[in-house]
Amino acid sequence: MADVKTALVTGASRGIGRAIAIALAKEGMDVAVIATADSPAVQETVRLIEETGRKAYFAACDVSDFAACGACVTALLEEAGTIDVLVNNAGITRDKLLLQMREEDFDDVIAVNLKGAFNMTKALLRHFLKNKAGNIINISSVVGLMGNAGQANYAASKAGLIGFTKSVAKEYAAKGIVCNAICPGYIETDMTGQMPQAAREKLCAAVPMQRPGLPEEVAAAAAFLSRSTYITGETLRIDGGMCM
Ligand code: NDP
Repeated sequence: MADVKTALVTGASRGIGRAIAIALAKEGMDVAVIATADSPAVQETVRLIEETGRKAYFAACDVSDFAACGACVTALLEEAGTIDVLVNNAGITRDKLLLQMREEDFDDVIAVNLKGAFNMTKALLRHFLKNKAGNIINISSVVGLMGNAGQANYAASKAGLIGFTKSVAKEYAAKGIVCNAICPGYIETDMTGQMPQAAREKLCAAVPMQRPGLPEEVAAAAAFLSRSTYITGETLRIDGGMCM
């Protein structure tokens, strides 16, 4: 059916990416799931998408690899026929105080979180231009807005993503392409589950709503932005009031 949209969500094996993939399927889109490798978690995301009645595609792709992103998008376009919504969600942390942070801790985080979004957006841009439409959602973080001790690499990648979002929005607004960023606060996923209990309690205490957010609460914002035809260059916080 030509009027069914397709979304590509990176880092959709679990956490926020999985919740976004399911939310977009519930919006009526087919969804391409990207993760580093096939796994039971990926298959669970695929199953949950199919449970909504939509089609799921899967591709293993390291988003930090420019050539791999190009090949992945080419293959998915061949298989799915179109991609209308791109969600750059894949992300990693390598938290350390700057004094202990190694060069590779900085490079790896920038490569996945920031360059990954560049790689995927570049890979899809010509297709969006040909379609005279495209919707890009970049998952940044409140840490990109306010900084965080122990996360200089991560905060730089997420702040960079906001600059990237606004630049892409300005460059392609006239071509029917919108590009927005979401800044989640403290969301309960594997990523935050790795943090020491004391650090999680400290984070929670900084949230006016006094609880962590759920991946589904971020996904609801992504679903809203996926319908956007006139919101572009926006940075939307989903953080329980953490970064007012
Ligand atoms: P998770 O650690 O739970 O999941 C990360 C996802 O990214 C996985 O699907 C993982 O795939 C994928 N991924 C990691 N590296 C790569 C790579 N090189 N190429 C492709 N996929 C990759 O993270 P969250 O769900 O918590 O976070 C999702 C996004 O939201 C991230 O960008 C994160 O920075 C951001 N965010 C999260 C917050 C939180 O509190 N949780 C707060 C603010 C922002 P695989 O399974 O193959 O490893």
